[in-house]
Amino acid sequence: MSEAVAEAVAERFKELYGADPQGVWAAPGRVNLIGEHTDYNDGFVMPFALPHTAVAAVSRRDDGVLRLHSADIEGDAGGVVELRVDALEPESDKNWTAYPAGVVWALRAAGHEVSGADIHLASTVPAGAGLSSSAALEVVIALALNDLHDLGLKGWQLARLCQRAENVYVGAPVGIMDQTASACCTAGHALFLDTRDLSQRQIPFDLAAEGLRLLVVDTQVKHEHSTGEYGKRRAGCEKGAALLGVDALRDIPYAELDAALERLGDDEEVRRLVRHVVTEDERVERVVSLLESGGTRAIGPVLTEGHASLRDDFRISCTELDLVVDTALSAGALGARMTGGGFGGSAIVLAEVTDVDTITKAVQEAFAAAGFTAPRVFEAVPSAGARRVR
Ligand code: ADP
Ligand code: MG
Repeated sequence: MSEAVAEAVAERFKELYGADPQGVWAAPGRVNLIGEHTDYNDGFVMPFALPHTAVAAVSRRDDGVLRLHSADIEGDAGGVVELRVDALEPESDKNWTAYPAGVVWALRAAGHEVSGADIHLASTVPAGAGLSSSAALEVVIALALNDLHDLGLKGWQLARLCQRAENVYVGAPVGIMDQTASACCTAGHALFLDTRDLSQRQIPFDLAAEGLRLLVVDTQVKHEHSTGEYGKRRAGCEKGAALLGVDALRDIPYAELDAALERLGDDEEVRRLVRHVVTEDERVERVVSLLESGGTRAIGPVLTEGHASLRDDFRISCTELDLVVDTALSAGALGARMTGGGFGGSAIVLAEVTDVDTITKAVQEAFAAAGFTAPRVFEAVPSAGARRVR
């Protein structure tokens, strides 16, 4: 994020509210390298931050008024929205303002004296592409208020509050990965996160130094049924854990997977979900050890295995995502997989820098030939987490 962006956001704040902001903060979107649908099973994930960020200019207010404005929202939900902090009610707001208002609500519900703010934000994280524009938005506001009110909360604590904002205030049953990634990632690293206790380790992931690139292919599709299917997968995982007598599927060691599957008998659906979650946790651990021992190229096949598991066992891929993965692999990619919730959104592709153009062209041509909307392809450089920029 450039100084010019921070400047522009601060300028617009001044036009809207008539004074300079007290500061400007940025928080990134994320890509999950590996560890999909493990976060609500108390398992492992491994996201890294994108260079794309939500940038917010903020001043505190002490009169109970919360004013919100986004450069990216037009129409009825656009303009400055004014709320009162003591009137914030969970699940009362179906607009974008639920995300920042939810953060204020969650901070106050946790006993922090946040008594209003003026906020203007602009984001380069594409919304609804599986790159976590919502977490970027929440985390940038949480960090700004943390600083302006000297709350002294750490990244993981802000992440927890943002998750609560999204779960309770917005009403979306999301895990803890996105917010933690946005709050805690560092440049040149992926974040190995244990979602049970939020313990974390920064894993070196400097693609450029190794002549590698990671492409994000945003299919620009989001299939209708995604929310309902997410709920079904979650419920199925909970059922599996209950049948196996564990708190969460995380508690089934990989070495005991076959025995666990046997105990599930002929419940084929639950067996498939359990198999994905247990093998996916093992894949995260394998990727961590490969990256820590300098085997970056060798993670390619692990990513591709992860895709097969999401497609065949968890069953949340779709034609567009499979087309990206198959085409990229045929065109020479080291590995590829869908990332995020599924049924659309984005896929990631690991490739030698010299193969990037060939792969990009192959994917674009395959989409054109299938009559699909042209995908958006961009390079993901592991970038910094949330920070103050002014
Ligand atoms: P994702 O997090 O994968 O991008 P979500 O559905 O979780 O998708 O969040 C997208 C929602 O977040 C948008 O519909 C909008 O309400 C909100 N949002 C994201 N970016 C912005 C922005 N720049 N300005 C206002 N609202 C935003
Ligand atoms: Mg989101």
